[in-house]
Amino acid sequence: MSRSAHPAGPRHADVLPEGHYSAPPTDLNSLDPKVWSQTVERNADGVVTVGGVDVKALAEEFGTPAYVLDEADFRARARAWRTAFGADADVFYAGKAFLSRAVVRWLHEEGLNLDVCSGGELATALSAGMPAERIAFHGNNKSPEEIERAVRAGVGRIVLDSFQEIVRVAHIARSLGKRQPVQIRVTVGVEAHTHEFIATAHEDQKFGIPLAGGQAAEAVRRALQLDGLDVIGIHSHIGSQIFDMSGFEVAAQRVVGLLKDVRDEHGVELPEIDLGGGLGIAYTSDDDPREPHEIAKALHEIVTRACEAARLRTPRISVEPGRAIVGPTAFTLYEVGTTKQLEGLRTYVSVDGGMSDNIRTALYDAEYSVALVSRTSDAGPMLARVVGKHCESGDIVVKDAFLPADLAPGDLLAVPATGAYCRSMASNYNHVLRPPVVAVRDGEARVVVRRETEEDLLRLDVG
Ligand SMILES: *Cc1c(COP(=O)(O)O)cnc(C)c1O
Repeated sequence: MSRSAHPAGPRHADVLPEGHYSAPPTDLNSLDPKVWSQTVERNADGVVTVGGVDVKALAEEFGTPAYVLDEADFRARARAWRTAFGADADVFYAGKAFLSRAVVRWLHEEGLNLDVCSGGELATALSAGMPAERIAFHGNNKSPEEIERAVRAGVGRIVLDSFQEIVRVAHIARSLGKRQPVQIRVTVGVEAHTHEFIATAHEDQKFGIPLAGGQAAEAVRRALQLDGLDVIGIHSHIGSQIFDMSGFEVAAQRVVGLLKDVRDEHGVELPEIDLGGGLGIAYTSDDDPREPHEIAKALHEIVTRACEAARLRTPRISVEPGRAIVGPTAFTLYEVGTTKQLEGLRTYVSVDGGMSDNIRTALYDAEYSVALVSRTSDAGPMLARVVGKHCESGDIVVKDAFLPADLAPGDLLAVPATGAYCRSMASNYNHVLRPPVVAVRDGEARVVVRRETEEDLLRLDVG
């Protein structure tokens, strides 16, 4: 049942013609509210401000590169998801998108739950006071130590990802005298990216247990037999940067099909389903993401309809947005170091970070936009490639960007929508120091994750 190809998906970006870009914007100084966090604007001097703090002051105080996180925008997005899904559903923020103790506290205060997928993420969540029962623990290869810590802490759910793990978690829970709530992660044969999805009969991926061939049904059967487990539901996560709800529709129908089989075979109606994350955001002005209330309404309708058809009580729904909450809330602030015009080829603009602070362009062929933020300019547009400072020609931050032709060393550039999967995937390649995360709110800026130092690097290197 192949619906269509998905040429715009990150794994298929090679389908795009070389040099694909829109016409230059009519005003290079304008800031599209779609890609910038809510409090971003230009002040009377033409300098961009966020949370009431101007970027020149930020660069002066905290240095560049830096991730600048708009706390009001983060809270507003978290709250919008919480409100949209209401009291009979749960929103789990996917911590892998970006996790820090400040963010954990904001999520807690805004009434969200939290997904973690490693001992390190679990430790961060617990150390910032997230109640264990509001934490879900994911991963396709959780270590026995990680499982034991999660069970001891009393996490609200462990999402089981393999037959071995079903036995492993049951054993550990029983040995601790506990009954661990679990969901079983299934693969439903839907592969979704951006605007399109493909529904297939089987899944070739490392996550989850396939519905195909009755494997997921067998997993539920085994889990229901084990004392240490309380099987609370089924989990499905279909992809990332998705705009089209039809992939969720097929996934939800297939998950409900499993709930019905479980009811028919075992006489139990599992009370929860989790539809995962993956909702898209605007990286450039070409993207049109949906609002949380539209997504919530669509998912509720899809699940309710499928359950009515199967004569099942509608289960409690949960979702796991990561990118859709944190992605738009931050930009990366860079300083221009050099510019290089290669006649008849391209103009390169080098900034003081690169693939160590944003690997997504190199890894997924991701598209970003960029703006001159330390001043306005009346110069015409030049098509440029913004690159980093690493010893690697694939070190590209923004593949094709229109910037003012008078751009010069010392100018500050900002790349919006870098809140998700940038700091969390940052590396020390070339022994470059990972940038700080600076949170701004109501005219004040504070470091929530500090810049790495050479001492930090050398401390790990014990000679
Ligand atoms: C990555 C992931 C998410 C979050 O994905 P986003 O694209 O950031 O929304 C949610 N759930 C699971 C299981 C994931 O692996």
